[in-house]
Amino acid sequence: MTIDIDAKAKSLVDAVMAQPATDQDIELVQRQLGRYPRGMVAVGARCVCGRPLAVITRPVLPGGIPFPTTCYLTGPEAVKAASHVEAAGVMQQYNEMLGEDEELKAAYAEAHQLYLAFRHELAARLGDSEEHIEGTSAGGMPVRVKCLHALLAQSLVMGPGTNPIGDLVLERVKDEFNPAVCRCTVL
Ligand SMILES: [Zn+2]
Repeated sequence: MTIDIDAKAKSLVDAVMAQPATDQDIELVQRQLGRYPRGMVAVGARCVCGRPLAVITRPVLPGGIPFPTTCYLTGPEAVKAASHVEAAGVMQQYNEMLGEDEELKAAYAEAHQLYLAFRHELAARLGDSEEHIEGTSAGGMPVRVKCLHALLAQSLVMGPGTNPIGDLVLERVKDEFNPAVCRCTVL
């Protein structure tokens, strides 16, 4: 299983490094977030129209700031959809499911391992230190659900089947946000 995770992490990072962020990507993400995306390495997931949905951020930001949220949600419609699910109190339900469903719990722990392996590979290629973020992934993983934005970002970047909670969010919001249906408002 470890070998599978490492191999998957490497191939994901290969894909990221093959298409580094362009000036146009960075400019669009800046408009999506309303701030400059420091440390942005590449667009990790795009809307069907090509606009960024999630970006890959390096483990150490310029200025030496450790940054654990390697997969960061930027698409305003995706951000809003995740916020609506959080506001509806669904995180509590997901946490209860994690407590009761061993299979879900194991898949979620594996998503955490893949997140760490992905960042480890990225850090190695960029020469970034993971000293201050070692063992820390995102969104509350491996045992809690704390931020649906981070989990949705992982699902979008790494594909279906990598983060079971991110997948549940994606399924739940599909009438509001769906990467296959362009509803982009930041153009
Ligand atoms: Zn779009």
